Amino acid sequence: MGGSVEQLQAQFHQLRMSETSKELPSFLRKAELKSWTYQELLHEPLTYEEKRREEKMIEKHLKWAKFPYEKSLDEFDLGEQPSINNRQLKQLQELSWLDQVFNLIFLGPPGVGKTHLAIGLGLEAIQHGQRVAFISMGELVSLLKTEENIRKAQLRLKRIRDADLVIIDDLMYMAMDQHEANLFFHLINHLYERSSIILTSNKGPEDWGELMGDQGITTAILDRLLHRAEVIHLNGSSHRIKHRQTVFQSKNVQN
Ligand code: ADP
Ligand code: MG
Repeated sequence: MGGSVEQLQAQFHQLRMSETSKELPSFLRKAELKSWTYQELLHEPLTYEEKRREEKMIEKHLKWAKFPYEKSLDEFDLGEQPSINNRQLKQLQELSWLDQVFNLIFLGPPGVGKTHLAIGLGLEAIQHGQRVAFISMGELVSLLKTEENIRKAQLRLKRIRDADLVIIDDLMYMAMDQHEANLFFHLINHLYERSSIILTSNKGPEDWGELMGDQGITTAILDRLLHRAEVIHLNGSSHRIKHRQTVFQSKNVQN
């Protein structure tokens, strides 16, 4: 006769099927109760183990992505953003640009939904098993500059370099010096043709040059970023301002 339930659990654990190990007593109870076939008794725990692994991987990837907030594409109101239509959004949501290692560049003034769209697509990619890293440009430059000395920066940059999709938020809100532009170039060069990049910026590529200082580096960075890229212009007025919260009670002016 085979081992006790505890022994079987230990064996599953040893074989790294920890979820099955934990749930084994419940599976055995159900098997008896519902007279599972042998096949069902194998199928149920294996399917459960797979599902739990996938869920745990998604949880891990969500943690690693470091989104500033989590808002889905379903929460994006197309009625408020006339520059992009339902069909285009659906196409982006299908993620074929990610499979083809295309970059996306969201341009437009503040508050039009650039970061929201980037995060929504990032969440979508994670649900499809991809690794995503979100970082603001300011934070990225400071990570790159401290990489040699700070272990936390090394780990974060490793996750960025290994990601399938890197979201760089608010590119060029600051001017970079030559050293910073160089570090940025090396990162972009590493990601080039290996990972997709989503950039958000309130300035167009034609203005990026002056903010990166050196013309040679700027050209090299732009070449790689724009080689396979879809540029999406978002216009309209700021959602933040339209939906501004106020500390004052709204007064009925007629009274
Ligand atoms: P940007 O990055 O372009 O400055 P955000 O994406 O951060 O703007 O948007 C600002 C806020 O407004 C966020 O809370 C975002 O969720 C919300 N927002 C912007 N556009 C929309 C939209 N079309 N539908 C729903 N929420 C929106
Ligand atoms: Mg933003």
